[in-house]
Amino acid sequence: MIINRIDDLENIPEVTIIGGGVSAISAAITLEKLNITSLIIEAGPIGPNIDELSQSFYNGKTTKDEYFDLKETRVRKFGGSSEHWEDQVTLRPLDKYDFKGWLFTKDELDKYTEEAAKIFDVNNNFSNRDIKISENIQITKFIYGLPKTKGRHEEIHFGKKFLDHIKNSKKIHLVGDTRVLSLDGENKVEKIYYIKDNVKNELTPNITIMATGGIENSRILLYSQKISKKNFLKNIKIGTNWMEHITGLVIGSFVGNHEKLENLISCFNKELDYNNTYLSFTNSTLNRLNCLNILLKFQKNKLSHKIFYYLKVFFQNFNLIFDPVLKIFNFNFPSNIKLIAMIEQKPNEDNFIKLSENLKDPHFVPEPELNWNWKNQKEIKDSLNISINELNFFLKKNKIGKIIPQNFLRNFDTNYPADSIYAGHHHLGGTQMSDKPENGVVDKNLKVFNLSNLFITGGSVFPTGGYVHPTFTIVQLSIRLAHHIEKNYIIDAKKN
Ligand SMILES: Cc1cc2nc3c(=O)[nH]c(=O)nc-3n(C[C@H](O)[C@H](O)[C@H](O)COP(=O)(O)OP(=O)(O)OC[C@H]3O[C@@H](n4cnc5c(N)ncnc54)[C@H](O)[C@@H]3O)c2cc1C
Repeated sequence: MIINRIDDLENIPEVTIIGGGVSAISAAITLEKLNITSLIIEAGPIGPNIDELSQSFYNGKTTKDEYFDLKETRVRKFGGSSEHWEDQVTLRPLDKYDFKGWLFTKDELDKYTEEAAKIFDVNNNFSNRDIKISENIQITKFIYGLPKTKGRHEEIHFGKKFLDHIKNSKKIHLVGDTRVLSLDGENKVEKIYYIKDNVKNELTPNITIMATGGIENSRILLYSQKISKKNFLKNIKIGTNWMEHITGLVIGSFVGNHEKLENLISCFNKELDYNNTYLSFTNSTLNRLNCLNILLKFQKNKLSHKIFYYLKVFFQNFNLIFDPVLKIFNFNFPSNIKLIAMIEQKPNEDNFIKLSENLKDPHFVPEPELNWNWKNQKEIKDSLNISINELNFFLKKNKIGKIIPQNFLRNFDTNYPADSIYAGHHHLGGTQMSDKPENGVVDKNLKVFNLSNLFITGGSVFPTGGYVHPTFTIVQLSIRLAHHIEKNYIIDAKKN
């Protein structure tokens, strides 16, 4: 049900969820199935439109490498950033290899694949969909969440999709336009401070889940830590190891037999067009290469005139033959088939969210400052080169051609192009899962260290991020968390 104010509730529900995006809604829906009551506190409006005033609370500064405006890369309303999804959402669970830095293996999240697919209303057949084209390389398949009615997008936007369900629910209580400012307590969260209609108020929660997205989860905890008089979150490193996916980077040009390349791809991938075919490495190959996980895609630029086409083909073959000479001059003739990469970023302390020292939002909470830094991470260039070499081995063996790497990959000191933002709107890390408080914020059950009743869900808990779009994994994590709370907190409390 929707409530106007938290004060209207006779009792605070069993679980208080801060935030009303995908991760929060997934947790609430699962808790409801388990017969557990929840309160979703959403800062933004519940209506259909993105509200400029609400968005202004998402202002913030970015430093180091180019990044999106923090107001544009997320949505502050019920449904969260899912309201930014256009006519589809790309879904895929993380690969087995991506769990290297996690405290559990992929099997642990696979248990919740079916439940997660139901929430998105997509087919749950994720396993065995990739098609091996060689011992080492596979065509990577995604599942796409699509609007049911052509031309209308609401079914993939979580706010619209679940509004009626929540309105009619007796277990889920939703309050909008209510912004959580901070949390405080000794060994547990004793108070949640919030603001509604410019009036500050507080509530005493039972169990709390933070689900305010991959930037605000860190910001709220940093602010709570800063203003606490009770040493709340003392000695816990919040905001570090923030990550994104380096997305859309052109890393090389294909030279060789175009027809053979096209035939190869279309023979394995009949349902998708050439420009939508993604390649990745098999799990055993990734283990052998020991590089960052990467997704590759050939992209063909259309040539309007045949004459240009023949000229290009000439130059491409020229490239292939004279590559060693051209390398000396750091020069390539252009090719109309480019190789594009989406690659994971290794967690790194140089990437972090901190509170601004001088900029505050209209509620006087410091704005977030995001320091995003990937261009000087050696592992990224190394992994891009390793991937091109591995792909070249396959292309040469099959007499298809080869990839000539962009100049910035040939030399570590050569800069990446600065013409674009190479990111995916995927906000990961900052309140990472870890085995001890010195290295992260939550344990393997997503419980905040040293606090008995505070959990976090969302991309901010990822210890490593793979290359894949994160939201399917986020939903699996929220479902797993709801089950964990039921088994370990609610059932026990009811027994007593
Ligand atoms: C353009 C775009 C395209 C994308 N495409 C894909 C894709 O194809 N596939 C994919 O997997 N992912 C995609 N993503 C990423 C995806 O949207 C996010 O991973 C997902 O929305 C994260 O969900 P969340 O609930 O954790 O956080 P959010 O969606 O950020 O939700 C957080 C919620 O918390 C609320 N909130 C914030 N602060 C407070 C506060 N102080 N008090 C109370 N409430 C608060 C916000 O209003 C919001 O409702 C895309 C993102 C964008 C921007």
